[in-house]
Amino acid sequence: MIIDFRSDTVTKPTPGMLDVMMAARVGDDVFGEDPSINDLEVKAAEMFGMDAAIFCPSGTMTNQIAIKCHTQPGDEVICDDSAHVYQYEGGGIASNSGASVKLLYGDRGRITADQVKSAINPDDPHRANTSLVCLENTSNRGGGSCYDFAEIEKIKTVCKDNGLQFHLDGARLFNALVATKQTARQYGEAFDSISICLSKSLGCPVGSLLLGTKELVKKARRTRKAFGGGMRQAGFLAAAGLYALDNHVDRLQEDHDHARQIAVAISKKDFVKTVLPVETNIIIFELLPSMPASELVGRLKEQQILTYAIAPNRVRLVVHLDITKEMVDSTIQRFNAL
Ligand SMILES: *Cc1c(COP(=O)(O)O)cnc(C)c1O
Repeated sequence: MIIDFRSDTVTKPTPGMLDVMMAARVGDDVFGEDPSINDLEVKAAEMFGMDAAIFCPSGTMTNQIAIKCHTQPGDEVICDDSAHVYQYEGGGIASNSGASVKLLYGDRGRITADQVKSAINPDDPHRANTSLVCLENTSNRGGGSCYDFAEIEKIKTVCKDNGLQFHLDGARLFNALVATKQTARQYGEAFDSISICLSKSLGCPVGSLLLGTKELVKKARRTRKAFGGGMRQAGFLAAAGLYALDNHVDRLQEDHDHARQIAVAISKKDFVKTVLPVETNIIIFELLPSMPASELVGRLKEQQILTYAIAPNRVRLVVHLDITKEMVDSTIQRFNAL
């Protein structure tokens, strides 16, 4: 039995999800006529108490559309150096928006209001115009770390005081909500735009949503078209999203519990230097020089456990919907035997 911890994107639709997908009512979404997509957009916007939402093929697209809508060419975007928008979106901030980036070095992906404040450029023609702050919650490279909401509110105040837009890459926001007992509405109030992924821990095959004001989402529809992301009868995918929002949010606690159990076993291995604190469904650990990450990933693969080397000395495991309790027990046994 292969146990795949490479990412929470590897999940397959459950039978219940497939049933609603097959039965979905669909239409041409570029004409605004897909009832399932319209339902999903309304439902998500209501959950977050935001005006509107737009369904897109990927979280990269929702982030990149948001950045494009919030900036002008030559502007500067503030984010943590590990942020997905900077590290893993193909240089899109530069190529799509013509913007530059000011990197901050936060604590496991989380930046502070004080850091943001000191990173804002003065109003000086020599300097790039700072226009946007992007946060990521949970932070992927931070090992699934969650923001303290009080810090988010402080950053929001800094943004307001300085006329900056405030975007959240919430690819795994539902993990943070479940782990911290924060609410979607709190986030809807704090941010100008939020991207959420349905294809990560919520178990959908495809899809992300960008939430924001009516004006932002209107602008985003044109940008999505220009990026080639306008889809037609994509309601089959939106039906999966509706199903996931109803059925796959509360169960995330199970993934978090599983991640903690596996992390305990990993932390006992003598080749492991440290395991980052496990707050949600991601486990990242650092190895001693005697065990390069590529070697461990290879040895685990021989044991049918798929993991991912995110650095020469760091390995990541992501727990998800398709990881059963039996798989967790078996993974722990195989680690113990290594
Ligand atoms: C996966 C991910 C995204 C979006 O990725 P896509 O594969 O384009 O959907 C964005 N941000 C973070 C933090 C992610 O982990």
